Amino acid sequence: MKVRFWGVRGSFPVPGESTNRYGGNTSCVEVRCGDGGPRIIIDAGTGLRKLGKEMMAGEFAEGKGAAHLLVSHTHWDHIQGLPFFSPLYQKGNRFHVYARHRDDTHLRAVFASQSDTPYFPVPFDQVQADVSFRELVEGARFEIGPVKVRCTRLNHPWIAMAYRLDHEGASIAYVTDTAPFRDILIEEEFIRKPPRKGEQLKREDQDKLDAMREGVVRLCEGADLVIYDTQFTPEEYAQKPHWGHSCPDDAIEIAQAAGARALALFHHAPERTDDAIDRILASCREDPKSKGLSLLAASEGLEVTVTAPEEAAAQPAGGGSGGGGDAR
Ligand SMILES: [Zn+2]
Ligand SMILES: [Zn+2]
Repeated sequence: MKVRFWGVRGSFPVPGESTNRYGGNTSCVEVRCGDGGPRIIIDAGTGLRKLGKEMMAGEFAEGKGAAHLLVSHTHWDHIQGLPFFSPLYQKGNRFHVYARHRDDTHLRAVFASQSDTPYFPVPFDQVQADVSFRELVEGARFEIGPVKVRCTRLNHPWIAMAYRLDHEGASIAYVTDTAPFRDILIEEEFIRKPPRKGEQLKREDQDKLDAMREGVVRLCEGADLVIYDTQFTPEEYAQKPHWGHSCPDDAIEIAQAAGARALALFHHAPERTDDAIDRILASCREDPKSKGLSLLAASEGLEVTVTAPEEAAAQPAGGGSGGGGDAR
């Protein structure tokens, strides 16, 4: 499988001098599975716009393209690229959108509402491509052609889904957005304040978090590449545990517990400069807790080839040290 990062940022786009190397667009990851295999896109943040331009250089311009879009959740930074995704406006193209079922609103309505007036000039029903929506329940398993897909829920306001893709013995897991599975249980509500210091979690909440963590570890089990929400530093997390994001330490702990082979730091905080991401990556690599784990920081344009364990470990295309920051 070839994984290409089109947007690696959390919360909102941050173009500018200090974010040029890792990139300022929000979450969007493309996965290609061999020649003729399905085209899978995970999340539709602002990075999707540029991917759409590239797709329009091929069969999508003629209305002969098909792609599958897995959405972690529908916060802006994961869907905002969709109205600007050119292949949607070409008749004949086919898209399959997958996201978690909501009790209150059908998935199509959730996506359509972001293109409603007064937010966008083109209503969603003007989209020319054929778009189908599939609502997922937690723990769903399904197939996209030869690719096996699994999902599990995360600890995030209004809940996000993590996905795992398996193809020809290689596997990737995409785990964003999520708080670690301690301190606070975040479900379908807005939690205004962090828990008070020393406040004990309710037993039932801790049980839910334990089950959620177990689900995530199983999802990442033996994965060749885990892409994980590492938005926060420990200091930031201490202030905002109720925001639903993790630190690199949490990602390393889960990846190691799961016996994963490589970990990509992802969903970088908007205020994080390229130099700060370099420093975070360097300190993760020096940390004895990451021993045996190949670490990189996701950057816009970075392509990673993920192969089954008996072949070479996950490597950025064209060799290299496995480091981030070499965005092309
Ligand atoms: Zn996000
Ligand atoms: Zn979110």
